[in-house]
Amino acid sequence: MIIFGTKTSASVIKTGEFNCPNCQNKRNYKLKRFKKYIHIFFIPIIQTDNLGDSLECGFCLINYVPGTVLSKDEYSPENLLSTTISVNYWGTPTTFGKRLGAYLIDMIFIYVVLFALVSLELGILRLLIGFIYFLGCDLLLKGSSFGKLLLQMKVSELDKDKLPTTMKLLMRNVVKGICSFFPPIYLIALSNDNVQTLHDKAANTIVIDKLGNSR
Ligand SMILES: [Zn+2]
Repeated sequence: MIIFGTKTSASVIKTGEFNCPNCQNKRNYKLKRFKKYIHIFFIPIIQTDNLGDSLECGFCLINYVPGTVLSKDEYSPENLLSTTISVNYWGTPTTFGKRLGAYLIDMIFIYVVLFALVSLELGILRLLIGFIYFLGCDLLLKGSSFGKLLLQMKVSELDKDKLPTTMKLLMRNVVKGICSFFPPIYLIALSNDNVQTLHDKAANTIVIDKLGNSR
């Protein structure tokens, strides 16, 4: 929610150099700690959770679980903080409500376009416009759409903060298109912790909240 809700924000707790598996090169990193706050009008009021740490490559900006790319000497969470927290943080799955909100915003957007074309014989084109819109958004807006941008969400690979490949995004949108014939199937997102829909499961993707400011 905009007026009152929770917000994830990150602070940099350490910097250094590491071998980035994606760049296959030595890069600078930022080790970030994520915390969740209750906010009112975007002002953090109460800290609710320590979510964990994430290591970001300064070059390709991919986030890693710190323990998988740094040695024990370089990264041991016990030395970095007084309270124990989970250390495998790289993103928070968004909520079903936000996904639904983004979808509705996108549908309004699509219908504005459809109404502009209403004089045309649409037929099957009507379905095609939805498919082209969502696939085009995923590719051009890097895993977002107008609805997702407004609500600060994006599509990511399931296991790391990275834009899925074009093939995966295509797969995702084909399955999404098929599911749109039977919308209740989207409710599958309520049955798992990652809020994955059938089209997310098919493409091994997840929709996450964009991260807050880093300091
Ligand atoms: Zn990198």
